Amino acid sequence: MIVGIDAGGTLIKVAYTKKGEVHFEKYPIAEIEQVADWVNNLVDCKVCVTGGRSGVLVSLLDQPAQEMVEFEATHLGVQVLLEKAGTLEDAYLVTNVGTGTSIHCIQDNMQERLGGTGVGGGTLVGLSHLLTGVTRYDEIVELASRGSRDRLDLKVKDIYEDKEPPISGELTASNFGQNLFAISDGVTKEELLAAVIGLVGETVSTVSVQAARQCRSSTIVYIGSSFIDNPLLKEVVTSYTILRGSIPVFPDNGEFSGAMGAMTAL
Ligand code: ADP
Repeated sequence: MIVGIDAGGTLIKVAYTKKGEVHFEKYPIAEIEQVADWVNNLVDCKVCVTGGRSGVLVSLLDQPAQEMVEFEATHLGVQVLLEKAGTLEDAYLVTNVGTGTSIHCIQDNMQERLGGTGVGGGTLVGLSHLLTGVTRYDEIVELASRGSRDRLDLKVKDIYEDKEPPISGELTASNFGQNLFAISDGVTKEELLAAVIGLVGETVSTVSVQAARQCRSSTIVYIGSSFIDNPLLKEVVTSYTILRGSIPVFPDNGEFSGAMGAMTAL
């Protein structure tokens, strides 16, 4: 069996082949010892590990494991996933919305990190918890999908009231920028969580679209576990990316890119 593992800040992603088929699993980082036990009990396997917590995982393994730089593993994994889907292009941008967000340009078969932002999936969970007390990721995204950002976010058209704005009036002028002191009947959890997802989605897509100017492509491949079962984040990122003139792509199993790349390297 060959096994690729991406041990990240929040989740451990595993890709492995069994009877010629690729399987994917994910675990919270708190279960790193259980993942190591699973690997230690495999007979006749090769392992390649990547991600920020790969050192911790390797220290728990009984057998030596190959290690791979995260960005290279992700690049390789994205390439494999896009190839499978028949959508591989010569040049594209990869925005990995993990705990934090990292942006890469892929061209001439090389990857270059263009930058990133600390606003990512960690912000989504952390800020949501601080504002509403909700802790579980699935509950956050479910409640957010039922909320509206209209009373919290200030749009360009709200500022330009009776005038034609010089940019799209639909763009957000200020996340959480409405006159919140004037809301007398309280703000719901659903509204707050929708606004947090709006903030995260608009930040990562805005930074990505700007970074795309440094890459000879306007295709942005969005990956990372922050998109798992999170249609609202996908929707915000899709509409903002298109509004700013780029093309968003969300490959199936994109959150397993690092693990897939590590597995492919073996
Ligand atoms: P990392 O490699 O840094 O762990 P991921 O790509 O795995 O990053 O993304 C982590 C983010 O995915 C979390 O911050 C959270 O927003 C989201 N997420 C998706 N599913 C879960 C889950 N079951 N538990 C916690 N966070 C989750």
